[in-house]
Amino acid sequence: MKSTLRFRVTPVALLPLAAASLLLASCATNSSRGLSWEAQLGPVPKTPITPQQLQKYVQVKSDPIRKGSYGRRLDRPMQPRYITIHSTQNYTGDAYAHAKALKRGALRGGVCGYLCWHFTVQDDVVIQHIPTNERGEHADFDGPGNRYSIGIEMCEHKGNDLAKTIDRTAQLTASLMYYHNIPLSNVVPHYHWPRKGYSTPHKNCPHFLLENGQPGATWKWFLSRVERHYRRIQAPRQQPQMAAAPQQPQPAAQPQPQLAGTLPVAYVGNGGSRRGLLSGN
Ligand SMILES: [Zn+2]
Repeated sequence: MKSTLRFRVTPVALLPLAAASLLLASCATNSSRGLSWEAQLGPVPKTPITPQQLQKYVQVKSDPIRKGSYGRRLDRPMQPRYITIHSTQNYTGDAYAHAKALKRGALRGGVCGYLCWHFTVQDDVVIQHIPTNERGEHADFDGPGNRYSIGIEMCEHKGNDLAKTIDRTAQLTASLMYYHNIPLSNVVPHYHWPRKGYSTPHKNCPHFLLENGQPGATWKWFLSRVERHYRRIQAPRQQPQMAAAPQQPQPAAQPQPQLAGTLPVAYVGNGGSRRGLLSGN
């Protein structure tokens, strides 16, 4: 019913200046929580950053569940197509406590009997629990949320800076989008994946980024933060096209250095060549 809107809008020119600027500000996010977090964090810098710099900045520590045990007891490879954002709703446990719990199989549930997800984020660090090319148990049992998405949990324990946690999550998401070629439209809240057999199939998760249990203005603000981090990433995805040059005898082919976009996929462990990645074991 968009057409009726035009009769309801108060012309900006008739509003006092302060009210008009408030209206404009609310057009940008329309989320009071988003505005407050944005003010706390400041704008995302616009200076370019390499994928490696961003990954380093995110501060991912690897503390994997042992392969073959608990949440990784089944061999279940995955090609991630989505990124699913959660919050722990645990007001006492930090990221390290969640890593410990996952490693000793303390969180039961899901299809394989044990919950697991890929990353837990708090204000100053990210802990990786399983490689991004293995499926987790964090969203919708045997549904596409578990079969095709990377699961990220945001911490909510006392003393944790929530704004910084959200921003670190946005940075991690941007980095994962880059390395796994995942579009922003496939970054979703847990809410997105219905859980079969539940009276409330769409979970209110991550609750502090939703409005009345549904994605709204605050979720949009979070996505805009992800997008701004993503836009900073600058790296060639393919060989630059050289201008046509006069034909000359070519030297023997040299091995080409790998370009940023074709590096071994980060975060997956086996085959990943960078420090700080999961070994897959
Ligand atoms: Zn969730």
